[in-house]
Amino acid sequence: MTERYCVLGNPVAHSRSPAIHAQFAEQCGQDMAYEALLAPLDGFVKTVAGFVAAGGRGANVTVPFKEEAFRLCTRRSPRAERAGAVNTLAFSADEIYGDNTDGAGLVRDIEVNLGFALAGRRILLLGAGGAARGVIAPLLACKPASLSIANRSVDKAEALAAQFVDLAAVDAENYAKTENGRFDVVINATSASLSGEALPLPPGVFAPGSLAYDMMYGKGKTPFLALARAQGAGLMADGLGMLVEQAAEAFLIWRGVRPESAPVLTALRATLSTPTAA
Ligand code: NDP
Repeated sequence: MTERYCVLGNPVAHSRSPAIHAQFAEQCGQDMAYEALLAPLDGFVKTVAGFVAAGGRGANVTVPFKEEAFRLCTRRSPRAERAGAVNTLAFSADEIYGDNTDGAGLVRDIEVNLGFALAGRRILLLGAGGAARGVIAPLLACKPASLSIANRSVDKAEALAAQFVDLAAVDAENYAKTENGRFDVVINATSASLSGEALPLPPGVFAPGSLAYDMMYGKGKTPFLALARAQGAGLMADGLGMLVEQAAEAFLIWRGVRPESAPVLTALRATLSTPTAA
């Protein structure tokens, strides 16, 4: 019998996840269906319950429900506990299991797809929201030389850094303090690119040849990537690879098989009018 999966969000119609998982299923010969399911802002739990009652086996969770999904789980992976948010749910008769594959997806995109090893690098993470929180532990697991968080509201960056003191010392600062930091990797985990806004980054943030990574995708050359190029970054990437890789991790959890992400990423990029990876 065809097993059902979905992505839950609000809004959700724009989601690329159904296309990605359809390609994974075909590639791996899995009999499954995957749909986008709009949950009312005050009706996430009810929507999940309805999907499970109808035979749903798993779900991806996107904005704004990742924290609510975290609370709904009866069991969570250690990385979901760290992230404080869940983007992958697996339903069985006796439990709702939650995981968070965003950080693993980011790291795999950087290290495997872009071929940029993170060990020994100086990393700057911009933003202190849910996306930033989800990737900190996976980034630290790569043994960078340092990890700094910069955020518009510096108190949020400080609170976030404090949650990881048992893993490593994480610096927290405002944007001005990053002047002449010469970071090897700068990751934009803010939502500024969503509205096409530029971040107030001072001169000297990017070391020559550094990697500039914008988690945003589908927005063309964002102000962040344009600034990175002007400051001497050598490699620019958007978040499309992260999206595909976090989906591949979820697929592995549900189906026990890891799909090949490269052809799916290539096909997806071809459907976007303004490719941004450089
Ligand atoms: P949140 O709303 O939780 O956090 C937003 C962050 O952006 C905060 O740190 C906020 O700063 C900062 N910010 C927003 N606007 C500005 C601005 N104009 N200037 C400076 N800082 C700003 O969002 P998320 O963490 O959930 O998502 C962040 C981004 O990551 C989104 O663009 C999302 O699409 C992307 N994402 C991509 C994924 C992928 O697979 N590629 C996966 C997950 C997320 P402050 O605290 O000061 O308000």
